[in-house]
Amino acid sequence: MATNDMEKITSLCKRRGFIFQNSEIYGGLGSIWDYGPLGVELKNNVKRAWWKSMIYNRDDVEGLDSSILMHPNAWMASGHVTSFQDLMVDCKDCKKRFREDLLKEKKCPECGGALTEPKKFNLMFKTFIGSVEDKSAEIYLRPETAQGIFVNFSNVLMSSRKKLPFGIAQIGKSFRNEITTGNFVFRCREFEQMELEYFTKPEEADKWYKYWLEQRLNWYINLGIDSKDLRLREHAKDELAHYAKSCHDIEYLFPMGWSELEGIANRGDFDLKQHSKLSGKDLVFFDDESKANITPYIIEPSGGVDRAVLAFLLNSYREEEVKGEKRVLLALHKDLVPIKVAVLPLLRNRPQIVELAHNIVNNLRADYKVSYDDTASIGRLYRRQDEIGTLYCVTVDVDSLEDKKVTIRYRDTMKQDRIEIENLKKFIEDKLR
Ligand code: ATP
Repeated sequence: MATNDMEKITSLCKRRGFIFQNSEIYGGLGSIWDYGPLGVELKNNVKRAWWKSMIYNRDDVEGLDSSILMHPNAWMASGHVTSFQDLMVDCKDCKKRFREDLLKEKKCPECGGALTEPKKFNLMFKTFIGSVEDKSAEIYLRPETAQGIFVNFSNVLMSSRKKLPFGIAQIGKSFRNEITTGNFVFRCREFEQMELEYFTKPEEADKWYKYWLEQRLNWYINLGIDSKDLRLREHAKDELAHYAKSCHDIEYLFPMGWSELEGIANRGDFDLKQHSKLSGKDLVFFDDESKANITPYIIEPSGGVDRAVLAFLLNSYREEEVKGEKRVLLALHKDLVPIKVAVLPLLRNRPQIVELAHNIVNNLRADYKVSYDDTASIGRLYRRQDEIGTLYCVTVDVDSLEDKKVTIRYRDTMKQDRIEIENLKKFIEDKLR
């Protein structure tokens, strides 16, 4: 059972070092979050799982890491300078600002006050490049990673000698000066995206669109998200972004209701044509069969790392009763858990046991995160590890010194096995594979 209690996840995240409010000691910066020691592991694991599925497990997609800052014309071409804006309304009483399209009624959701007429508000953050801070030096922090891919289309095509269909994938920071904020890391002003731009022949675009819808939905399910909490929602024609021919959202049943986890769009040839027009460089693919230049269509699965992290946390949270006591468990998929193994000495006052435990940690640690803890009784130590999703707890006891064996306890079943220390590494590697 997943939880729909955001408060529980927020407080667990803070208490156990997953996610902190940014600049908290100064009162915090709105909708900006920092990932703590466990959060950074979880987030890296989410990104690694995506990268593996996009790049390592296939032949037709290449990776990219383009910069956050881009030539301002890129944002003219993409339409962001003119179209990347929400209609905003202000409350005449409490002065709070809201996105018009997210309001259920035509009155302030906070105080019930009357609202102003809608005004356009561009979501891009601006900064200056170079030493002079005037209009000509104005540039933007990217609001999506996709444009960095489009402007590198020819570079990747030439250097990798790919043929259609092929994709370029990247993970990176994006920035949006969001007005409607809240819901923890669901909507941040600084966040990370995982985006694939998949270039196809125009007549094959529909086929690949369907393919990617299925692939992406399965990615979440294979990483443990309950399929009944996921759904595909097709955008109505009047909801489509200016570039999109069709679009589906993968939605997750977040505590505030069904909300977008990832968008999958058929962007047609809009982007490459626009960048060709503004840059004067042809962004085309020469097709050997027809001996003609093609402007490929683009299928874009675009997901948010932070929203995925939040969905994985909500989805894996469990509360159980074990022998009359509450057990909190984060039943994360093995590829996502921050700490794979915790090594726990049963007696912290026996130097030989402590030394053996440290040796075991050192032997395991090269490929994944292992932790050592001897700061409480074994019952407390198990509960601490369950709450953060640690897969295996290895306890070292007095007998270990003699029989060279340790006890391994499995997170989900709490069952225990006695196993030779010599075989432990291989045993865990096999389980993790
Ligand atoms: P929304 O309608 O919720 O504002 P969007 O449709 O503008 O989202 P896209 O532009 O499609 O979002 O961005 C692709 C993905 O990037 C989203 O599915 C989401 O996972 C992520 N994303 C977008 N904006 C944010 C944000 N402010 N905070 C965290 N993740 C975001």
